[in-house]
Amino acid sequence: MTMRAGTYNVRAKGHDSSYMPMKVTLSEDKIKNIKIDSSGETKGVADEVFKRLPKEIIGGQTLNVDAVSGATISSHGVVDGIAEAITQAGGNADEWKKRSKPVKRNGQNKEYSTDVVVVGAGGAGLTAAARLIQNNKKVIVLEKYPQIGGNTTRAGGPMNAAEPDWQKQFKALPGEKQSLKKLAVTPIEHIDPEYRADFKKLQEQIQKYLASGENYLFDSTLLHEIQTYLGGKRIDLNGNEIHGNYSLVNELVNNVLDSVKWLTDLGVKFDRSQVTMPVGALWRRGHKPVEPMGYAFIHVLGDWVKAHGATILTDTRAEHFLFKNGKIAGIIAKNSAGSKVIVHANNVIMTSGGFGANTPMVKKYNTYWKHIDDDIATTNSPAITGDGIRLGQEAGADLVGMGFIQLMPVSDPKTGEIFTGIQTPPENFIMVNQKGKRFVNEFAERDTLAKAAIANGGLFYLIADDKMKDTAYNTSQAAIDAQVKAGTLFKADTLADLAKQIHMDPGTLITTIKKYNSYVDAGKDPDFGKSAFNLKCEQGPFYATPRKPAIHHTMGGLKINTNAQVIAKNGKVIPSLYAAGEVAGGIHAGNRLGGNSLADIFTFGRIAADSICKKDASADVTSGASQN
Ligand SMILES: Cc1cc2nc3c(=O)[nH]c(=O)nc-3n(C[C@H](O)[C@H](O)[C@H](O)COP(=O)(O)OP(=O)(O)OC[C@H]3O[C@@H](n4cnc5c(N)ncnc54)[C@H](O)[C@@H]3O)c2cc1C
Repeated sequence: MTMRAGTYNVRAKGHDSSYMPMKVTLSEDKIKNIKIDSSGETKGVADEVFKRLPKEIIGGQTLNVDAVSGATISSHGVVDGIAEAITQAGGNADEWKKRSKPVKRNGQNKEYSTDVVVVGAGGAGLTAAARLIQNNKKVIVLEKYPQIGGNTTRAGGPMNAAEPDWQKQFKALPGEKQSLKKLAVTPIEHIDPEYRADFKKLQEQIQKYLASGENYLFDSTLLHEIQTYLGGKRIDLNGNEIHGNYSLVNELVNNVLDSVKWLTDLGVKFDRSQVTMPVGALWRRGHKPVEPMGYAFIHVLGDWVKAHGATILTDTRAEHFLFKNGKIAGIIAKNSAGSKVIVHANNVIMTSGGFGANTPMVKKYNTYWKHIDDDIATTNSPAITGDGIRLGQEAGADLVGMGFIQLMPVSDPKTGEIFTGIQTPPENFIMVNQKGKRFVNEFAERDTLAKAAIANGGLFYLIADDKMKDTAYNTSQAAIDAQVKAGTLFKADTLADLAKQIHMDPGTLITTIKKYNSYVDAGKDPDFGKSAFNLKCEQGPFYATPRKPAIHHTMGGLKINTNAQVIAKNGKVIPSLYAAGEVAGGIHAGNRLGGNSLADIFTFGRIAADSICKKDASADVTSGASQN
């Protein structure tokens, strides 16, 4: 069927409820050019779609192309947009969709040699790579997806680091002193022995602050340490207790501010005009980049690493270790063309993330949740399937805390996404159940929130007014309007109308919000003990964001020490094997605090690289190499 030649303006469905404008130029029988305006899309998630698909479609003159892994919605959006142009031109889009796939050239097997091979180009992997390059090491990074970034690209952005001199500029919120007072009177017997000396010092710091009568936002590395420990101390369904490994937690809180400084030096711009926190962080110590989402870190790290000589092999999945004489000597991988890629390396750093997108694996290990649905949503990139944990086991690694899975309470009920709807800092959260009643302290840890949500039927709503809306992260008025139109976010001029839209009794919702506002005035919540408040909910339009818990983070993983070396089941270090980021366990124990993962990945990514450099330096001294 011939087409009417010309340039057609169509729209491709993007992520969320957005649309990308496209210009498709057609001749009578060919697709000549495709231009996609992806400026409204979240950066870093589907960039590869916009680079790769137009080339494949024009090169192969077919719409029968594979979706780009990790960006299925945008891939289908682009194909459907072009199909629409073909239809408008009088062509047969179905015939184009049934054509043969573009021919993939069979690549040749490849071999590389390097100092260090890093498995996974997310936040931890790119950090380790950058740090190694700074120390003159040769690095190859393997990334199984077409695009770098992993879950780090999707992150909301805040990373926790106590920086009291900066935090002092901000006022304490109503309720925050109450939390400190509680810690100040907590009996020392409630604290595990290895944390007691630090806890006593923290109590002294708090007493001094409270006695001063000052009203700034207090913080210290000790408060960060103790909150990480208490927030992570949990008992599973079998009665097993877990809490964060003292040495690892201590290493984290004492090095994370250096990670912020190091990232700043590389080019990440942090917004120092506000101190924030994600849900379940317990304290406002989040350093949030100016640019939205975790892509802010990934593009700076990715660009830096590429510009300074690292080789990043995308579409290349690490499958096995390369062993020589029984010792780890690199990685055997496979690329998307099916060829073998062998990387000989003196050291391997595993930074392949957790297993939050692998529901069968989550269900296999889970000992914390009574039930996890087979079709539960996840906030994770589909790449996050626990490959590094399986690989680690191949090398005899011990695993820790595998049964403790984090559910993100405030996820989209269908897609699992977090940054849809109105996602404010938790001091502005009002969570109501399907009857319009509050059911929990919205400032609590994530597992507490998820358990309360499940007990209230799973689905619940975040209620916000117009002012609260302005504090929402990673959104825009255009995205909000599109979601309201699509029916995934509810908006009304009055609370009564909002209640009707979400099938609640208007009287109940109005009473709930009135009460909540009176608690904000009093700085105290007699119902659920909410421990920090900011805005009241009083100025229309009002919004209701439907939410439901989804799999978010896997706290367990490869056992590591403070050098990020992986520990074997026999308790010994596995030579040449390091792990950093979500693939490693031991820090976050039973429940990770919001904002503590970015803190972890950038800190332990640096530590893994530094350990290798230190080890090599001492080997040089021993062998006399440094004198050459
Ligand atoms: C939606 C969302 C929001 C979040 N928000 C925050 C936040 O605001 N603050 C915070 O502290 N934390 C947040 N987190 C958690 C945090 O983003 C992650 O825990 C963290 O980014 C994990 O980093 P990582 O480097 O360990 O792994 P990732 O960034 O996930 O990277 C792992 C990489 O390894 C690759 N890979 C996997 N297997 C292989 C293989 N076999 N071969 C080669 N490559 C492989 C993957 O493709 C991926 O690119 C959020 C998480 C999500 C999902």
